[in-house]
This record gives sequence, structure tokens and C-alpha cells, in this order.
Amino acid sequence: MTLDRQPGGLLRASDAGRTVLLKGWVARRRDLGELIFLTVRDRSGLVQVVFDKARCPPDAVSGASEARSEDVVAITGEVILRGEGQRNKDLPTGEVEVLATGLEFLSRSETPPFVVENRTNATEELRLEYRYLDLRRPVMQKNFVLRDEIAFRVRKVLHERGFLEVETPMLTRSTPEGARDFLVPSRVHRGQWYALPQSPQLFKQMLMISGFERYFQLARCFRDEDLRADRQFEFTQIDLEMSFPTEEDIFDAVEAFLVEAFAAAGIAVARPFPRLIFKDAMERYGTDRPDLRYDLPLCNLGEEAAGTGFAPFEKALASGGTVRGLRVPGGAAFSRKRLDELTEKAREHGAGGLLWAKSAAGEITSPAKKGLPEGRLERLLAKAGVADGDLLLIVADKESAAFAALAALRAEAARELKLIDESRYAFCWVTEFPLLGFDAESQSWFPMNHPFTGPREEDLDRLESDPGSVRARAYDVVVNGWELGSGSIRIHRADLQERVFRVLGIGEAEGKERFGFLLDALKYGAPPHGGIALGLDRICAIAAGATSLRDVIAFPKTTSGIDLMTKAPADVFPQQLRELGFEPPVRPEK
Ligand code: ASP
Repeated sequence: MTLDRQPGGLLRASDAGRTVLLKGWVARRRDLGELIFLTVRDRSGLVQVVFDKARCPPDAVSGASEARSEDVVAITGEVILRGEGQRNKDLPTGEVEVLATGLEFLSRSETPPFVVENRTNATEELRLEYRYLDLRRPVMQKNFVLRDEIAFRVRKVLHERGFLEVETPMLTRSTPEGARDFLVPSRVHRGQWYALPQSPQLFKQMLMISGFERYFQLARCFRDEDLRADRQFEFTQIDLEMSFPTEEDIFDAVEAFLVEAFAAAGIAVARPFPRLIFKDAMERYGTDRPDLRYDLPLCNLGEEAAGTGFAPFEKALASGGTVRGLRVPGGAAFSRKRLDELTEKAREHGAGGLLWAKSAAGEITSPAKKGLPEGRLERLLAKAGVADGDLLLIVADKESAAFAALAALRAEAARELKLIDESRYAFCWVTEFPLLGFDAESQSWFPMNHPFTGPREEDLDRLESDPGSVRARAYDVVVNGWELGSGSIRIHRADLQERVFRVLGIGEAEGKERFGFLLDALKYGAPPHGGIALGLDRICAIAAGATSLRDVIAFPKTTSGIDLMTKAPADVFPQQLRELGFEPPVRPEK
């Protein structure tokens, strides 16, 4: 009789009496003399196999006594119930074991550089170098099972709503998403370059002009940015675009698949997501990706700070800056050392400094007390709603610095005061972003998103006269302080696109050269269209409760952009370079 392979991790008490064939990896061996135990791992989980010298053929016993961790084995045996005292509650298969009758080695393993178990003290470098071993760990496999389920559900929701999955090129022209491009030299066209896509932005717009009406893609994107813990050079976006949409249509499609995606991890997400306009998000939380699991709002102390003669306030206000505060409930208990750390944190986020005031046992203490007119500190505290036992943190600075610093302190205070309900997933939409930002250094306007974002109709007449006041039809979807995705209703008329290019300082010639195909396409009947892109890696990491994106990407790079397993980036053969028109670099002799 030939046996089909049985996933060992699925064996239960009801399987007792069955003869099974297991194929998998040896996770552990325990030799008790008369009995040898092997724990066998496959994708379905772990199961214990027992070799009983009194009952098992001698060659199987000798195989078992030689078996080492990570050997690949085929084992036949009978499923038996474990005795009362021998059950293992920590294993789903813990009520049974397999009484072995045969063992065959399918392949042997050298001693692995770390033990392949959920709990590991291997460094991340070692894990990435031996990624195939790292990925054998059940915790990692669980992440990829979830990732597959999320991707499947997203596809299903979008497919059912009539979105077509269309692939777009990897070798393309630069797309302006604000990052540096990865460039690929052309062998055939010497001296010319492809760029790897920062996003499929222009292709998806073309697909709308092609009449596809609804497009999506789990799209690989490439951005040559300085890597931080939560970024990778290449990542996957859930990218979509619709024709004739309102913002509501986009929100509806996205909320629908996010609910399904998080449900895959057992996380219930309520719809519709609350909405927040950009301006209110900044005023209240100092950031356009607020963590709404807690409130802790900032307050504007400009009025109370004006006319005090207090140098830090005067300086900030006179130069068009702001004075903002954050009330930290119960924060009067913060030590001096803690306040110094918070000041350091504020500086890291660009603020010149941090002022504080405490209200405790009816007394107000603050380093600003002497510098302020009588009664003014009380007014500041009253405006911020400070009660006895609270702390007020104040930043007087440029608006951007004040917001950045206080947003960071808000998050820090929430953690410290344990205001964060870790079981919550607080989604929201942020809308009405400014269309453009101003770069003081180059004295020019730049697109806050990308240059194809549509302005709001009612602001259009100020596009040239007051570009900074024009709001975009752009939106972000945010959860727990993370930006999950952003998108917009696009410009679909060539004249408006050219106007926006002009404001951005992209002249006619440059516009034609870089985006001529878009401007042309817009002239042949472009439907109104809009879309969004969400980071699939980030969604998976949050749903899996992973601390790093690297835990949901099979073969990620380190923060310095190295693939420790393949050792990319790497040298190539001189001949390959010559074919591309490059001279191989002269390297010092080793
Ligand atoms: N292309 C944009 C991005 O990658 C998303 C969009 O506007 O749809 O961020």
C-alpha cells in the first residue's frame, strides 16, 4: 500500500489508529535509551514521533539515533494517543504521537547556525544571511500564510467589484513620486536609461484613458531612499485607479478590502472610517497621520503668548511662527531627567527647545515663570486645560517644527501614560491636503503628492496668485499613526495639467520631454479618474503584529540596502559593463 503524505501538524486524537507517512524536518531529538523522540516539523506544524526499541525495526531506530536537527526525513508510523500525563497542551498535536515503524533520510543537514525555533536569539544579520532557515521558523511561516490570505482577499474584493488586474512595466521612465530612481542602463540604446517604477502612476492613468474603468495591481515599486526601519527599496503596493469616481467611491473600495484584510488576522475593523481634514489633523495632533487610539490634543497658545515680552515667544511669533502646547494629564510627576529627555526629543524633531510648566498641589512651577508677566502662566495653563497634577509642554517655533516636535511628544506621552489600547485599530481618512509646498532653498513650489493630483475646483482661481492656499483632491488612509496609503482624484484635462506644471516650474519643453505622452493622451478624451495606493507590506506587518516590515517580506534588505543572503549589490563581470558602455572600475589589488 502506498501512503499519501500526511501533514504532521494536523494530527489530532481522532486520527488515533491511522498509519501515516510524514515528511518534514527534524526539529528536535531526545534519546532516552529505550525510546527516541523526534519532533518533526512541516508547514502544518510540529508532531512528536517515538521510536520504541522494543517495537521498531532496528534500522529505523539506528536512523533515529543518528538524526540531527534540520535533517529531512520520511517517517511511517501509527498515530497513537499519548498517556494522560504525557499530553502537551502547548502543541495542537499534543494529544497524540506517531509510533514510528520506518525512517528514511531524504536529505541531511549540517549543524545550522542557529536553532530553528520561534524563540531565537540569533541576530537579525544572521537570520537574514540564512534566511531559508529563518523562514522555516513557525512564527515566520505564520506571517506568510497571513500575507497570502490578505493578498487573496484584497484581490477577491477588487475582482468582485469589477477591478481588472493589469501588469505594468518594470523597465520604464522615471515617475515623479519624490524619491530617487533606480536606473537601468540600456545595452541596445547606449547612453540611455530605464527607471524602475517608483509607482505605476502614469500607467494606471493611461489605463483609464484606455477605457478600462477600474484597474488594480499588487504592484512592485522601487524607490532609492535612505532606508529606515520601516522602509525597503522595493515594496508592494495595492495600487488602484477608477474612472468617473468621487472620493466616496475610492473610500468605499478601500474600506471594503481593508475590512477583509484585517479580518484575515482576526481583527474587526468598523466602517465607515472617520474623516479628518488636513488642517484639523495638524492643529489637533501636529501630524497628518494621527494615532486616534487616544486623544491628547495640542492647543494653540498664540493669543496668550503674544505681548508677553518673553523672548522665546516673541521671537517665534515675530517671525511668523507659533506657540503650541500639549497638556500631559498627570505629567506633573515627570522627573527633571524625563523633562530633559523630552526636550532632547523635541530638538530631534526640529524644535529649538521645549518649555514646560507643572501644576501640582496648587503650585505652578516652570522655568518660564520669571520671564512672563504676572498671571500669564496661569492664562496659558487655563487655555490648555491644565488641571492640578498635569504638565504643559510648550514649543515656540516655526509651525512645522512646533507640530513635528509636539506630535512626537504626544506619541511618547501616550505610551508613557499607557493611554494606548493596543487591541484597537483606529483607521481614518485625512483629506484636503495642500496641493503644493514651498521649498525655501530653491524658492519654488513642489507637489505635496505628485504633479498629477487634482486641485479642488473651488480653489482653482488661486492656482497662480496664491498656490500655497490651493487644496488638493488628495486623501490618505491612516491607522494607529501609520500612513497606509495615499491617493487623489487626478487632473484629467491637458490645459489644467499644463497649468500645474507651469506653477511647478516645469516649462513647456520639459513638460513635453518628460510627460509628453500624458499630455497627448489627455487630449484624446480622458475620463475623470482617481485612485490610491496602499502599502501591502505595511498592512501585513500591522495585521501580523510584526515589529518590522522585514518580518513580512520573504527576502528583505538590511537598513543599508544589502541582501545578506545573496550578497547583493555585487560586482559584475567586466564584460557585462563593457556591453553597457561602461569601463570596469579599477580596483586596488587585494
Ligand atoms: N502613485 C501614488 C503613490 O505611489 C499613489 C496614487 O496617487 O495613487 O504614492
